[in-house]
Amino acid sequence: MNRIIRASAPAKVNLVFEVGQLANDGYHPVNSLYFALDLREDLTLVRGEAGTGISIYVHGDSLPEAHINSVPTDQSNLVHKTAVLFAEKLGMPTPDLMIDIHKRIPVAGGMAGGSADAAAMLVAMNEFMHQELGTARLSIEQLAVIGAELGSDVPFCLYGGMAIGTGHGDEITPLANLEFETNWVLCASSKGLSTPTVYAAFDEIGQHSAFTDLSDSSKLSSVAELGSRMSNDLEPAAFSLMPALSELVSQLQELGATRAMVSGSGPTIAALFDSEAKAIEVSKVLVDQGFVALTAKGGAQGSRLDS
Ligand code: ATP
Repeated sequence: MNRIIRASAPAKVNLVFEVGQLANDGYHPVNSLYFALDLREDLTLVRGEAGTGISIYVHGDSLPEAHINSVPTDQSNLVHKTAVLFAEKLGMPTPDLMIDIHKRIPVAGGMAGGSADAAAMLVAMNEFMHQELGTARLSIEQLAVIGAELGSDVPFCLYGGMAIGTGHGDEITPLANLEFETNWVLCASSKGLSTPTVYAAFDEIGQHSAFTDLSDSSKLSSVAELGSRMSNDLEPAAFSLMPALSELVSQLQELGATRAMVSGSGPTIAALFDSEAKAIEVSKVLVDQGFVALTAKGGAQGSRLDS
């Protein structure tokens, strides 16, 4: 029987997201405080029949069907690209694979859904190639170098916890986790926002911030202190493209969020609460209003093999 390899990886929020001016390489330098949430993508990998290539099946019952249907299953899926690149890095032909992705992270929501899939695939491929072809397992640092070629958020999804991301967000400095529990409500939009469009709006608004020192972030001592430290330079750009997001942020704050903010490039709103009970209660209010609202806890483990 074919061996089954299972792996998972977390969603991210950017607790702090500072964005610099567009550089000559076509990218914006960022200074980001990443935080992993226990909203995980589950990936299952088995060897396919010889000559069948890579087949990908995507499903998930906690997200709107439109989200699941918008994920490509061909070679443009980030997981497909991960398999091809990983084999290439080892100097091996791409193996025949059957891949199942259980999605829980809103698609095109600014929460690194595709990047989490790639990060889960990296640890799954690392194990698959070792077990099937006897290649040496790569370290997390080596996986992160490959991951950075696939997307800026992939290295963080490998590390998880809390970390500073610089460069394009892909240069990771892991930090000690926060010492208190954080509870989140994630309010997904039925329509996505494309990251390049949000950056284009950001350039048009033209407000770049000076980067602050994030190295002491583990010393934040309460939900209230964290809430007042949170910031996102892309928020005005996301609001300009989807004005309803600004109303949703206000509504979440009125409902008792310590802080509500656009996650990364949006349009998902991440709202921080000081208790799990309050987070659950508010998510129910949003669901009753027709929103897709998910709850999660912060500081989750990075991508890992699951049994
Ligand atoms: P980020 O926060 O890293 O900018 P995101 O969470 O906003 O990313 P994704 O969910 O990664 O966005 O999706 C962005 C686009 O990537 C989708 O519209 C989809 O077409 C494409 N895509 C390719 N592979 C995947 C995948 N495995 N999962 C989700 N989307 C994928």
